Amino acid sequence: MKHQSPSSGIKKTSGISSWNEINRNLNQLSDEEIINLYYQLRDECSGTGKISHFPNIKYLYATPFEREKDRREQQQWQKKQKVISEVIDWYRKAKNKSCVWWLENHVIAKHSASSCMNCGACTALCPAAEFYDFSPREIMTIIQEKNEDSIIGLLKSETIWYCHQCGSCKTKCPRQNSPFGMISSLRQLSQIKGYHIESVRGRQQYFGRHLWGGNLWNRACTLYFRNAIPDTHQDFGPRFETYFNRQDEFMKQVGAHPDMEGPFSGRKVHPETLKELRKLWIAGGAVFFWSLIEEAARRQAKEMNLSIDEYHNKVKTEG
Ligand code: SF4
Ligand code: SF4
Repeated sequence: MKHQSPSSGIKKTSGISSWNEINRNLNQLSDEEIINLYYQLRDECSGTGKISHFPNIKYLYATPFEREKDRREQQQWQKKQKVISEVIDWYRKAKNKSCVWWLENHVIAKHSASSCMNCGACTALCPAAEFYDFSPREIMTIIQEKNEDSIIGLLKSETIWYCHQCGSCKTKCPRQNSPFGMISSLRQLSQIKGYHIESVRGRQQYFGRHLWGGNLWNRACTLYFRNAIPDTHQDFGPRFETYFNRQDEFMKQVGAHPDMEGPFSGRKVHPETLKELRKLWIAGGAVFFWSLIEEAARRQAKEMNLSIDEYHNKVKTEG
């Protein structure tokens, strides 16, 4: 995504004259300045007649500016919470407990571990097992042995990130067990403990936290219309490339726009709707996990002598 189309509002609201200049000057802006500037730009409306759209949404998407705004805004939202939800309280408690404690107390992990009889049917049909050195049955065995060091090794490895969460294992398990539920639980534990940054795929959670997390936080949908680009989705074929390159024009023909208000994903979501959703993501623990991922990424970026944006670009492309 190129950020080369200056908005008329940038200079008016900040004295800064281009998108690149904003991205270069983030550290000099206070929390309020950065948050206010973001929404002033996002809310600039363009278009005539039936379709009003918000052209800056696509320029704000996936920028260092949006990421920095999200970090600071989410910190503010978290501080404002007077009551910590039961689930977040539980995650905080888990951070200081052993991994075996988690497996004996996290409801999904507990049921999954006790239901498995190690038959291997899940591995036999697992699509990830065809491509990687990966076996859901072996994961279940490590869990059932309850050896803390082996579990930590698993949480630091690439293994738990190979699963595509397709759910095939659950449908074939004679015990109706859910190895992918167990793997989701292990991913959570890995992030709570900060072990995920030890693997390439684990630290890519930082990119995901800002891609899917940024879409959720700002556009109320994990996928934004402009996410799937033809270069990385050649399987969608040549027609998709034509559509992608002309999607604004095509959508206008049916009375829509990717960056409009209304019932389309990628839309400019009504502020009250977004507010309600954000409260849910905070109470349910999503924002808590994003802040854990952020904290671990900052720690590792410092060790690697990288800025947080250099780190973001590294994890996005490595592996
Ligand atoms: S198919 Fe079910 S019982 Fe068999 S190893 Fe996998 S999870 Fe365990
Ligand atoms: S959900 Fe994961 S472990 Fe289960 S079959 Fe799919 S890729 Fe394999």
